[in-house]
Amino acid sequence: MALLQISEPGQSPAPHQRRHAVGIDLGTTNSIVATVKGAMVEALPDVDGQCLLPSVVRYLPNKEVVVGTLAKQAAAEDPANTIISVKRIMGRGKEDIDYIGNQLPYDFIGEDGQMPKIRTVAGDKSPVEISATILNSLVNRAELSLGAQLDGAVITVPAYFDEAQREATKTAAQLAGINVLRLLNEPTAAAVAYGLDEGEEGIIAVFDLGGGTFDISILELSAGVFEVLATGGDSALGGDDFDRLIAQWIMQQAGIIDSNLSRQQVRELMQTACSVKEKLSDSDSVDISFENWQGVLSRDLLNTIVDPLIERALRSCRRAVRDAKLELDQVKNVVMVGGSTRVPRVRTRVGEYFKTTPLVHIDPDRVVAIGAAIQADVLIGNKPDTEMLLLDVIPLSLGIETMGGLVEKIVPRNTTIPVAKAQEFTTYKDGQVAMAIHVLQGERELVSDCRSLARFELRGIPAMVAGAAHIRVTFQIDADGLLQVTAKETSSGVEASVEVKPSYGLSDDDIASMLADSFDHASEDKQARVLQEKRVELDRVLESINTALAADGDKLLTTEERAEIDQAMAALVSLRSAEEPKLIDAGIEKFMAVSEDYAMRRMDVAIKDALQGRSIDEV
Ligand code: ADP
Ligand code: MG
Repeated sequence: MALLQISEPGQSPAPHQRRHAVGIDLGTTNSIVATVKGAMVEALPDVDGQCLLPSVVRYLPNKEVVVGTLAKQAAAEDPANTIISVKRIMGRGKEDIDYIGNQLPYDFIGEDGQMPKIRTVAGDKSPVEISATILNSLVNRAELSLGAQLDGAVITVPAYFDEAQREATKTAAQLAGINVLRLLNEPTAAAVAYGLDEGEEGIIAVFDLGGGTFDISILELSAGVFEVLATGGDSALGGDDFDRLIAQWIMQQAGIIDSNLSRQQVRELMQTACSVKEKLSDSDSVDISFENWQGVLSRDLLNTIVDPLIERALRSCRRAVRDAKLELDQVKNVVMVGGSTRVPRVRTRVGEYFKTTPLVHIDPDRVVAIGAAIQADVLIGNKPDTEMLLLDVIPLSLGIETMGGLVEKIVPRNTTIPVAKAQEFTTYKDGQVAMAIHVLQGERELVSDCRSLARFELRGIPAMVAGAAHIRVTFQIDADGLLQVTAKETSSGVEASVEVKPSYGLSDDDIASMLADSFDHASEDKQARVLQEKRVELDRVLESINTALAADGDKLLTTEERAEIDQAMAALVSLRSAEEPKLIDAGIEKFMAVSEDYAMRRMDVAIKDALQGRSIDEV
């Protein structure tokens, strides 16, 4: 559905004016910002013409903050105040960081269960603030280059980022003053850059081999929507490992023992290895000189050296394809991302493995930012003819708890987002003035088998008879998958809401196992649901007879009649523990027969009251 273009009164609608939107790849090592210019998508350079911004922030004692290349150069001399790879700790709790943090030279502070900060000479900095500084630098560069203020940005995140990591990224962007159009999964952005969203439906693998990490994502495109079927990889595999093996080869050839090298020499050796590797992506052989040694490395030999690393990456691919419950030949396209996919041997082996020529013609450093820029251009409204791209779906159903510990699903799994869905509920008891709302995630029928996301209360419901209140519960999920649940009593307008930011999201494995459970237990769940529903009905019958008896039981019933009803009620109570829905049904029916006369008498009284001047509405 298209949105109408509307403008504030007094402002010109300026329908032909382009709005300025960018795509930002906020990377672990490097970040990049890109935008659509006419028919082209371009990465935007800084004043020195550099497009890649090292994702490094340095804090100085005078509160000055340095970002990018200059900060990176200071990492060795001032490690405690120079923050690299902040993305690894975004949205993570203290416990996770104790695990990752041992390898990081920072002074972490903070309580358990909270996002920790890093102590620097310029004060304590949270990962969110540090990321905001990087984003700010990219925004400045973009605004300088475009000569205009930005209207919005799409920011990419790894497909495996959980809710907390996504939320932290979004907060960082807001802190940097960015209007976040949406967060987009990195592999999805890469696929969009290649226009695969407009192509044939099918399975796409995104192979992202960077400097220090390897990510493989398996996506399925259907009806214009990308679903992430599986993610995998190796957080300790990348181009740095290629460099290390080449350095070892050089030392072996030169007869050098590494314990004899100074730190400076080690750094030079690693730089030499890296430069040799990069040159071999375009040449068949490269001359090397290190200290007093001279030699030649051929591409053939490089291939042999790096093959074990490539095999490790391919093993991760096999696992991801298996996790997605697919066969290799179902993968139609492979998109290459990350600087290390420039190594020709990587391309060849990946092509052989998936039996398809990998897509490499877009710069693998920029492809993610380019896809994000294309998406941003559409979302900001520069492409009024294009249908809005809906690229993500929710992986598990969302719903609320209803009587009897049952889950009512409001947004089913695989619904494309953004989405808003509402459903009406009512009160269970006469005079009920508050309602507890319990938000759940999962496919199972019983609350105890689903994941609890949040609880909140709607208070101030006007007192009414059971079932008379209309309570509208709305689930709203924004483009980033963040959920807001609102409950509103429609006659009085009282409302309450909760925004769900689960501090730890679910891994793909968790999702897969929750889904598998729901299939395994489908029929037993259905029976449990029917039984629970009958029990709720039974309780409701008991509830209303109790209320009625308290109100006019003495007036309308003889002692014998009352005794009969009491006996029938006792029988009904004993059916609470029945395991057979049919037994409960029969019991309710029997009870209704016994209490029918009484119900009729009550009705007569109500009508008589009405005829004596009370309006029928009050009855
Ligand atoms: P990250 O995703 O970790 O930020 P990048 O995607 O920027 O990393 O990739 C950086 C890696 O790519 C480095 O190991 C670098 O040496 C390697 N690389 C860059 N250009 C080439 C090239 N021409 N040939 C081989 N490797 C390259
Ligand atoms: Mg990368």
